[in-house]
Amino acid sequence: MKIIQEYTLKELKEMMDALSVKRFRAEQIFLFAQKYASIDEMFVVPKELREKLKQEGFTSTPVTILKDFISKDGTIKFLFKLTDDNLIEGVLMKYKYGNTLCVSTQVGCRMGCVFCASGLDGKVRDLMAGEIIGQVLAANKYLGGGLGEERKITNIVLMGSGEPLDNYDNVVKFIKLISSSDSINISQRNISLSTCGIAPKIYKLADEGLGITLTVSLHATTDENRKQIMKIANAYSLADLIEALQYYYKKCGRRIVFEYILSKGNVSEADARRIASLTKGMICHVNMIPINKTPESPLLPASQEKTKEFFETLKQHGISATTRRTLGSDISASCGQLRRKHLSNLSNY
Ligand code: SAH
Repeated sequence: MKIIQEYTLKELKEMMDALSVKRFRAEQIFLFAQKYASIDEMFVVPKELREKLKQEGFTSTPVTILKDFISKDGTIKFLFKLTDDNLIEGVLMKYKYGNTLCVSTQVGCRMGCVFCASGLDGKVRDLMAGEIIGQVLAANKYLGGGLGEERKITNIVLMGSGEPLDNYDNVVKFIKLISSSDSINISQRNISLSTCGIAPKIYKLADEGLGITLTVSLHATTDENRKQIMKIANAYSLADLIEALQYYYKKCGRRIVFEYILSKGNVSEADARRIASLTKGMICHVNMIPINKTPESPLLPASQEKTKEFFETLKQHGISATTRRTLGSDISASCGQLRRKHLSNLSNY
C-alpha cells in the first residue's frame, strides 16, 4: 500500500511528470488528500488518473473511524480501522486553547509496562507514517475542520498505543510531514512525543533538530522499582536515561516533561527528593497521572494525602508539577483499553 499523504507536494509533482500528467494535478490530489478525501472523491481529478493511482496501490484514506465514543466531559475516543482490519485508538481532548489529538504509533506494543493495557498482547506491527497522519486528518474531518484557519486539530501528542521510539523512522517522518507548510501544518511546538525511555533513540532524536516536546514516562525513581513495572528499565538504567535526556535538553533547549503515575509504591518524600536530584541541571516539569485502573494491573492508586505530600516536596525542591486532568475515564480512554475491550467483545460472539 502507498499512502498519498506520505509524499510531499514536490514528490507528487515529480510523480505526475513521470506519468506525463500536468503538474497542477499534483496540487489537486495533495489538497484533497490533506482534507482526507478518498481517491474516488477527488472529483476534479480525471477518472483515468484516479483509476491509475488506485491500480498502483495508492490510497488517501488509510485509517477510517469505526466507532466514536463521546464522554460526558467532551473527550472523544476513536476506534480506528486500518486497511488490513487491525484496530487502533485515538483520543481527542478539548481544551480552551484548542483540540489535542492523542495518536497511536503501533498496533499493540512490545514494551510490556505492567499498568498499561496496550502491551498486554504484545506488538502486532508498526504503523506507517501515513497511518499516523491518517488519524490526524480523519479526526480533523470528523470535527468539520479543513486546512489553514479552518483546521480543528491544533495539538498532537504521540501518547496512544505503541512506543514511538520503537517505530523511529516512521514517527520522525510523520512529525516532519504533519508540520510541513504545504500540509495541515501543525507546528512542531504543538507536538509532544512520549517515550518509556529508549536511551540510544533519545540521542538520535536530539540530533534531528525537531522543535517538539519530549515527554518521558518515569514512574519510579530507583532502578529496582522501575524494573518491577517497566521492562525497558532492564535495558537502560535511570543513569543512562538521564544522561540521554541531558543531551536532548542541551541540544534542543526544550524543557523535558516527565510523566509520573501516582501509585502507592512511588510517591514517598524520598521519591520526590530523588526526582529533584535526578533532574538537576535541566528545566523540567512533572505531570502526575492518576492511575486509570486496568484489571490486569498490580498497581494500586496513591492516596490523596500521599499525593499532596509528594507534590509539596517536589515544590520545595523547585520542581514544577501538575496533576493531569482525568478525561474520558467513562469511555476507556487510557492506552489500549478500548481496542482491548472491542477485541474481547468480538471474541465473545
Ligand atoms: N510508549 C509511550 C507512549 C504511550 S503510553 C510511553 O511509554 O510513554 C502514554 C502514557 O500513558 C505513559 O506515560 C503511560 O505510562 C501512561 N499510561 C498507560 N497506561 C496507563 C494507565 N492505565 N493509567 C495511567 N496512565 C497510563
